[in-house]
Amino acid sequence: MSASILLAARGLAGSRSLANYRSRGGYRGLAKALAMEPAAVVAEVRASGLRGRGGAGFPAGVKWGFVPTDSPKARYLICNADESEPGTFKDRELILVDPHMVLEGIAIAAYAIGARTAYLYIRGEFVREAAILDEAIAEARGAGLLGRRVLGRDFDLEIHVHRGAGAYICGEETALIESLEGKRGLPRLKPPFPAVVGLFGCPTVVNNVETLACVPHIIVRGSAWFAAIGTQRSTGTKLFCVSGHVRRPGVYEEVMGISFRELIEERCGGIRGGRALKAFIPGGSSAPVLPAAKIDTPADFESVAAAGSMLGSGGVIVMDETVDMVWALENLLTFYAHESCGQCTPCREGSDWALDVVRRIRRGHGRPHDLETLRRIARYASQGMTICPLGDAFCGPIASFLEHFGQEFEAAIAGATAPPTLLPVLPLRSDRGLFDHGAGGA
Ligand code: SF4
Repeated sequence: MSASILLAARGLAGSRSLANYRSRGGYRGLAKALAMEPAAVVAEVRASGLRGRGGAGFPAGVKWGFVPTDSPKARYLICNADESEPGTFKDRELILVDPHMVLEGIAIAAYAIGARTAYLYIRGEFVREAAILDEAIAEARGAGLLGRRVLGRDFDLEIHVHRGAGAYICGEETALIESLEGKRGLPRLKPPFPAVVGLFGCPTVVNNVETLACVPHIIVRGSAWFAAIGTQRSTGTKLFCVSGHVRRPGVYEEVMGISFRELIEERCGGIRGGRALKAFIPGGSSAPVLPAAKIDTPADFESVAAAGSMLGSGGVIVMDETVDMVWALENLLTFYAHESCGQCTPCREGSDWALDVVRRIRRGHGRPHDLETLRRIARYASQGMTICPLGDAFCGPIASFLEHFGQEFEAAIAGATAPPTLLPVLPLRSDRGLFDHGAGGA
């Protein structure tokens, strides 16, 4: 069943204006929240079962509850609009369609955790979206919905839009915080978690755009209403961004638990050119790939995990039968090797090394032991061996591509044409600044 809660205004003329948003009931959630105790707002969101939509799926209300209420320090709310996961383009859509919904979610969350300053960290390339948000903030401020004494209540809030510079890793919350502090966006070791030691050393909550956009609806309609949508542990609707070889790519809002078959074949019109589905990545490029046989998997956090992948950001990348899976993995690893910040050896060296091996296989120079080498890299650079999840992000694709499409890699190696010893050393990649290092062939 299609759902239309977050994207209900898509296609409406003037949906971005404050007047239009208010005509649809906008900012009623904020008014209602401000009449509640902050702890009651946190409890309501926790009861709704809302889970983070940025990738990790952590319960939002639980995260808010980690903020110490007895700390004398300032508290901060950060809306993560970095949206850097390849295959993901839903937050951008929300901002383009309904920026005030996002602002209202930020205001309610800030009130709930006791923040008086919020930052909206948006990727640098989203120039238009940043301008739209600036305009919406000015409109809301002029209407008394932001600034001093919001809606006449004892609550002040300023929201600042901060544009990032386009690094993938700044979508990770601690790297984002470093970047916001004016430093290089390098992930921090956790603990301490941002809820205790975050921006400027103060308690901070970082939530994704889509997560915060759900909040006004939860406050207005109640946690029970939200919890009744979807599955028991994956509540509400989810924005799925479908890209790749489908007839109608785009952003679809669906009830959690819709099957990927329904999403791909019905919503998106099936595979273009009448071809067959070969594989799909269900949750952004860092999610393990699934073969076509898994198409009936329900799209919720638990079912996708049980199928061997993750729902992640909801970025569904569809590949038809013509895709060379060795090429596809090389493509993904090129991205991750480039975006590794370089702090951890397993990620910095492992991503480059894996890329070199896969690239060699694709060029027809594979060696018999290459697949075992790839498996070992994936084993040693994941499972908590690195500071941030980028280690797992590049290892998940390696392990899953080999698990489901290993025969393509084996065939490429079997058809290798050049003796490995004659391989030239691959050129150094020198775009890492401080962390430049030699990355010759494996
Ligand atoms: Fe940087 Fe990779 Fe370590 Fe994350 S895992 S901190 S991206 S080197």
